[in-house]
Amino acid sequence: GVGTAEVAENRILVFVRLRPMSKKEEEAGSTSCVKIVNKKEVYLTEYASENDYLRLKRVRGRHFCFDSAFPDSTTQAEVYSTSTADLVEGVLQGRNGTVFCYGATGAGKTYTMLGTMENPGIMVLAIKDLFSKVRQRSHDGNHSIQLSYLEIYNETVRDLLSPGRPLHLREDKQGIVAAGLTQYRAYSTDEVMKLLQRGNKNRTTEPTRVNETSSRSHAILQVVVEYRSMDGVNIVTRVGKLSLIDLAGSERAMATEQRTQRSIEGANINRSLLTLSSCINALVEGKKHIPYRNSKLTQLLKDSLGGSCNTVMVANISPSNLSYGETQNTLHWADRAKEI
Ligand code: ADP
Ligand code: MG
Repeated sequence: GVGTAEVAENRILVFVRLRPMSKKEEEAGSTSCVKIVNKKEVYLTEYASENDYLRLKRVRGRHFCFDSAFPDSTTQAEVYSTSTADLVEGVLQGRNGTVFCYGATGAGKTYTMLGTMENPGIMVLAIKDLFSKVRQRSHDGNHSIQLSYLEIYNETVRDLLSPGRPLHLREDKQGIVAAGLTQYRAYSTDEVMKLLQRGNKNRTTEPTRVNETSSRSHAILQVVVEYRSMDGVNIVTRVGKLSLIDLAGSERAMATEQRTQRSIEGANINRSLLTLSSCINALVEGKKHIPYRNSKLTQLLKDSLGGSCNTVMVANISPSNLSYGETQNTLHWADRAKEI
């Protein structure tokens, strides 16, 4: 299993979550092109040629191995306990932790991160767990839990808890922060679930798809846990930060990874997502210069990638052969992230 010892190696842990086939995919006559073979392996069918997936001519397959692979029957609680529970424990010890959900639009990122009222996801389960752990430890000091929830859309940062004017990034003692961002003092899980659901509704919608949150927006929940106690006459303090990120859909970034900076801007490609990929590639290759400064997302997460923090990636995929290309890209990307 995934133990604290493994997390302490400072390697990104990479998980893949397969979602169930949707009604829409079933009605379109989809077949499944992905299988979770055991608890760590994803088997992806390979077709005779790039464009052959509609002919269902299966040739052979390819296996990808991850820290865990979640089949479509996996519950939200199982995903949380395997991917994030150790990071929550680390945050209480003062170690930063970060969880990303990556994948194409419709692959299950928001379900995994936020979930629904009936089936709450990682964000809510992490906060619930924090509350219960803090309650158990209340005898040996004071904990405060503060959370903020923001969106990056078109390189503009907005407060999802108190929508209004765009926020500017500035540097302070704790690193780069969004100036004026609401810090919400949280006391109960129910309250937090409602708060996050409301915040999620504030995410930018595309003009053409008014009822859908944009596939180009990143949502970042940051939970800061501060601990204070007295050790004789000395005050002991400890601060840990948990960042939970529902990334923008990866489909457009994929098709354009080779573009130049200028054409990225011209085509309005998601700069934050591309820069995240570049930073991960630079970290994989052991480069000295990591281009954090090139996007808002990577500036905000500078202290949460590589280095001495615990980072987890959950790659979300659909089983449908109609999403074959996207699934293949997501698995390749996740395979690469494993090497950090
Ligand atoms: P994304 O955020 O990646 O665009 P969503 O999380 O919105 O995708 O998922 C698309 C649809 O599939 C939603 O209706 C969601 O409720 C459903 N879904 C995603 N993952 C699961 C899952 N593991 N189990 C059941 N339904 C899921
Ligand atoms: Mg989403």
